[in-house]
Amino acid sequence: MKIKSIEVYKADIPLEEPFRISLGEIKAAKNIFIKINTDMNLFGMGEASPFPFIVSETQASDAAAAHDLARLLIGKDPREIENRLRELTGYLPHSPTIISAFDMALYDLLGKIANLPLYALLGGGKRTLVTDRTVGINTPDKMVEDAVAFKERGFPAIKVKLGTTAPEDIDRIRRIRKALGPEISLRTDANQGWDYVTALQALKGMEDQGIQYCEQPVAVWDFESMRRISSQVTIPIMADESVFDDHDAYKLISMGACDYLNIKLAKSGGIYVALKINAIAEAAGMRCMVGCMNETSLALTAAAHFVSARTNIQFADLDSADFLQENPVVGGITYDEGGKITISDAPGIGATIDPAFLRSLESFVVK
Ligand code: MG
Repeated sequence: MKIKSIEVYKADIPLEEPFRISLGEIKAAKNIFIKINTDMNLFGMGEASPFPFIVSETQASDAAAAHDLARLLIGKDPREIENRLRELTGYLPHSPTIISAFDMALYDLLGKIANLPLYALLGGGKRTLVTDRTVGINTPDKMVEDAVAFKERGFPAIKVKLGTTAPEDIDRIRRIRKALGPEISLRTDANQGWDYVTALQALKGMEDQGIQYCEQPVAVWDFESMRRISSQVTIPIMADESVFDDHDAYKLISMGACDYLNIKLAKSGGIYVALKINAIAEAAGMRCMVGCMNETSLALTAAAHFVSARTNIQFADLDSADFLQENPVVGGITYDEGGKITISDAPGIGATIDPAFLRSLESFVVK
């Protein structure tokens, strides 16, 4: 089997409302879809959702990268995923989001060849997955209003974006916890917004609020402060922006810098490396979460298969399709009102982009 052509599409999908985190504001998902066609009448699809502040990739840079990456794959066997990914990462070692779209398309294809849903191809079972719902940074009143609305929709866990000043962030959490009551899981994410001292003040000030964990309190490079914070607060610390790949996971765990890892396909370069990160964490007795950027339910379905296939992944933060004004995906995961995710047994990822939507997009083909 050989790769015959690769189609690349640029999709702009507005969010329901602007979404703010400590690093900046996003108004639309500016994503890329990849379709890998073979000489056997089978294709695989993947999606990249570049989050510029985190991955240093944009839709424009990813489209240009996709052109060059696609040329490396034409005529090659798509079933040799490790070899294909080695070629892609050998050429662009620091562009994980666009490479994740190729990785997903290759796994989608392999699942179709094997006639197995991706979770089964990965040797996993089907398990119940539940996602949280994220509240962006805003005025405290608006954040309380959003958190209550998501609780009323049945989400069992609310994730709150923080990373401003310690007094403001403590106030946000206290007001949200009071409005939601003591039962619901409350997670926080500072997205690197604090320094060491601010993180200590903020986290100490919310230690009595039943916080399940706090993601990425300090800068991406600051493993040492993360280690010191972890040793001084009772709220578990989850590395997110600090862990892109398996090498980061190994260093963070070796240092004792965190309690959990947040794996995202857009940071790891896809499923192949995500499996390695999870294996390293599992070997160290550490549980993981799988999160998302601004993906449609195409990439979210790939992520959900990965979560289903590995029981060491304890938490799912796979809510980005709920932010989008349009989710042009056929098949794939479905959500019920309680944030429960159901995966289908269709082969591969089991999701594609609506052909009419694809035709409306700017695109090119590499042959
Ligand atoms: Mg995060």
